Amino acid sequence: MLPPSSDRRVDAVIRDLADVAGVAVVPDARLDSLTTLRIGGRPRALLECSTADAVTAAVAALDAAGVPVLVLGGGSNLVVAGGDLDLVVVAVRNREVEYRGATDDGAAAGGEADDAAAAAGEAAPHGRIVVRAGAGLAWDELVADTVARGYGGLECLSGIPGSVGATPVQNVGAYGVEVAQVLHRVRWFDRHTGVDEWVAPGALGLAYRTSVLKNTDRAVVLEVEFHLDPAGRSEPVRYAELAGRLGVEPGERTEAAVARETVLELRRGKGMVLDDDDEDTWSAGSFFTNPVIGEEDLPTVRSRVADRLGVGQAAQMPAFPGANGVKLSAGWLIERAGFGKGYPSSSSLARLSTKHTLALTNRGRATADDVIALAREVRDGVREAFGVDLHPEPVWVGCSI
Ligand SMILES: Cc1cc2nc3c(=O)[nH]c(=O)nc-3n(C[C@H](O)[C@H](O)[C@H](O)COP(=O)(O)OP(=O)(O)OC[C@H]3O[C@@H](n4cnc5c(N)ncnc54)[C@H](O)[C@@H]3O)c2cc1C
Repeated sequence: MLPPSSDRRVDAVIRDLADVAGVAVVPDARLDSLTTLRIGGRPRALLECSTADAVTAAVAALDAAGVPVLVLGGGSNLVVAGGDLDLVVVAVRNREVEYRGATDDGAAAGGEADDAAAAAGEAAPHGRIVVRAGAGLAWDELVADTVARGYGGLECLSGIPGSVGATPVQNVGAYGVEVAQVLHRVRWFDRHTGVDEWVAPGALGLAYRTSVLKNTDRAVVLEVEFHLDPAGRSEPVRYAELAGRLGVEPGERTEAAVARETVLELRRGKGMVLDDDDEDTWSAGSFFTNPVIGEEDLPTVRSRVADRLGVGQAAQMPAFPGANGVKLSAGWLIERAGFGKGYPSSSSLARLSTKHTLALTNRGRATADDVIALAREVRDGVREAFGVDLHPEPVWVGCSI
């Protein structure tokens, strides 16, 4: 790969962008200091963009010049190769937040917002509050703010690292809630048409940990709107462990602030809240999605589990039927395939979290190659043991599993 300064074309675009309001060129950037897995090499340049217009200007200019772009939020869902990277990082850093109420007929209130909502045909759902946030705002800052103001809706997604703008990218979800449930509209810069526009959730193709934005260069998210419950009630609590801890029946709502604290407590216990002092959190979160298999394949998987671990374990294997097939638990399969918490050992540079088998962690000095080798070993081991394919959840840059 080319060193950052060797391409005059890239240098010329970066020089021009340095004069654009809201764009700051950061010298000597390294992605290992910008990703939660703490791996990744040197991009050609890093542009910090503090306004939506700056993000749009940077991406448009780089696309026009044919320069590969990495749109970066909090770096918490990335596996990035080491060495010199043939790309420019556009870090999305616009962080404004604005609330608006709902009128009796359910239309969003507030001049410019009214016009935009009407133009997009997207009035706020009846009786809901709408919050608009800049894509570069830290997601959990937004969740904390909504809950502190007494609004419900985002509480079960507390403690997820990263930015607001990345939440629609993989339809982030946790504890039985996905952003799709509370997403009102997204403002994106369509990189194919060059149009900056508000789109309804239907345009995003949101599904389990994916959307039309994931692993594509389709668009950059500039702002996101969520609709919230002004009475401060949580989304229905569907996740059994959370319901049990909260003392509610599955499907009931509770006070958003209480749900947030309980979710944070559960997440900390699993190393799923970033903590500089806890190496179990130096990860990209869940490394594999829960595999979805055809209903017809379930008996085969159960019999492979029975062969290996006995009929008792086979009967207990978590399996959740849904519209697209049966969802299995990646963490359960990984552990039963012989990859326990902390695998392979306390001296390994890359190892599974000691709190959760689904998180691959960098204990400080691992390279991208170390992490990828462990990911391959786990994926291959699960396939060999049970015939189930695991797919990575993070986005891969300059490397692949
Ligand atoms: C400890 C830990 C726990 C986690 N728990 C969860 C969880 O419970 N549920 C869950 O779903 N995820 C979880 N994650 C994964 C991750 O936090 C989310 O996917 C998060 O939304 C990623 O946000 P980010 O800003 O860090 O994105 P980045 O890692 O910076 O980017 C990820 C992808 O999104 C793209 N992207 C980022 N911003 C934009 C934008 N504005 N416009 C267009 N594309 C963009 C990037 O180009 C890249 O392809 C966890 C991660 C960690 C480290």
